[in-house]
Amino acid sequence: MNTTTTTGKLTNGHRLVLLPLPFQGHLNPMLQLANILHSKGFSITILHTRFNSPNPTNYPHFTFLPIPDTAGEPNPLISDVGMVIRFLHYINISFVDPIRGCLERLMSEDDGVACLITDAQWFGIQSVADELKLPRIVHRTSNISSFLFFAAYSRLTDTGCFGSFSDEETKSKSLAKGLEPLNHQDLSKFLTSDPESACKVIELMVEGTKRARAVIWNTFKELEEGELEALSQDFPNPHFLIGPFHKYFPASSSSLLAQDQTSISWLDKHPPKSVLYVSFGSIVKLEKSEFLEIAWGLANSKQPFLWVVRPGSIGGSEWLEPLPDEFLERIVEGRGYIVKWAPQQDVLAHRATGGFWTHNGWNSTLESICEGVPMICSPAFGDQLPNARYVSDVWKIGVELQNGFEREEIESAIKRVMVNAEGLEFRNKITNLKWKVNRCLEKGGSSYSSLEDLVSYILSF
Ligand code: UDP
Repeated sequence: MNTTTTTGKLTNGHRLVLLPLPFQGHLNPMLQLANILHSKGFSITILHTRFNSPNPTNYPHFTFLPIPDTAGEPNPLISDVGMVIRFLHYINISFVDPIRGCLERLMSEDDGVACLITDAQWFGIQSVADELKLPRIVHRTSNISSFLFFAAYSRLTDTGCFGSFSDEETKSKSLAKGLEPLNHQDLSKFLTSDPESACKVIELMVEGTKRARAVIWNTFKELEEGELEALSQDFPNPHFLIGPFHKYFPASSSSLLAQDQTSISWLDKHPPKSVLYVSFGSIVKLEKSEFLEIAWGLANSKQPFLWVVRPGSIGGSEWLEPLPDEFLERIVEGRGYIVKWAPQQDVLAHRATGGFWTHNGWNSTLESICEGVPMICSPAFGDQLPNARYVSDVWKIGVELQNGFEREEIESAIKRVMVNAEGLEFRNKITNLKWKVNRCLEKGGSSYSSLEDLVSYILSF
């Protein structure tokens, strides 16, 4: 059955309801997915929280439905992992009834609802979908490798093993199967931030993903072939690897902050592959001392840099106040540029960008792979830790800083990636992945075919 939407576009009569998590790194891929599915003829309703809500005027072809206010909505200014965990617990309890109400209403309308697609972190909604007999597909905004890590981690907590990771004896043992290639240092970093609540959220997310009808991944088969095989053993639901999403539609329209376009005119003045781009995403916060180490590491490396410093991301400061005048006058004026938020995908695609110092959020990591830009990794929490380990130890397309933020190590890592022969090896490897990305999106390629399969799968409901 074909019907016409309010924008006049013909649809196949199947309405999809998408429920994103209200964080930048989750909104971007969910709205890209919405655009991808809309281009395949589905009509799209975005069910969203009132805070960090996407801007409907950028998507006139979608219907937006805010979830009715719940008592005491949390402050969306999340700035550390503990807050993220508390927030996830909160929304998966307090928002369940209002979401059920919205879904019931939508299902009773003439269009009905063919299927609900939620972020994996909306694990509390699986029971609602079961009750309403509504197929729920999970969209996991990160990759398979990190999901396998989460799954193994939640199994470890079941057996009580992980509580003893601080013992010297345990540290000398190799990690349990499924946690490789992470090491004990990664795990202890993972565990320091409110381990019990983090554990519970991970368990619920893994369990909710298992119970979903299917899973959509923003990754591509050629990158994670072995991991997909391992995943399918424990998670027999269908998996659709249709990424990288941003290659179909860019993220700029879902940006919550204004992207400073002068970044691009500044890059235009630089020779090919000469600039290091530095950004730690939308959530990571730094101490003032770390901020200063980064600044002096950049200064001592003598490489040009474009640095995103999000206002409020440095403890106790509004923006650049901790930087000494000497740094701003001598170093930044000479060969640096600092912005509050950049058009990241355009920056990574710019010919002048030669390296990316990142926190390894999955979007940033994937965007870097797609443009063939080698990385320096400074993961802070969650999936950033396994992502960084894969970049440095498995895909070998970058280096990870081992000692947090320390100016000598920073200077040396920048030189390894931007100047030394080792950097060329990283670039060759990541360029190879970039070609694989291009191929997987072409007709007959793995992501192209998986998307066709996903469309047929949804139409079969
Ligand atoms: N981003 C951006 N401008 C910036 C920094 C980041 O547009 O200055 C975008 C980036 O392209 C990515 C998203 O914000 O799509 C960050 O997502 P990611 O998963 O990398 O990290 P998170 O913010 O969730 O920690």
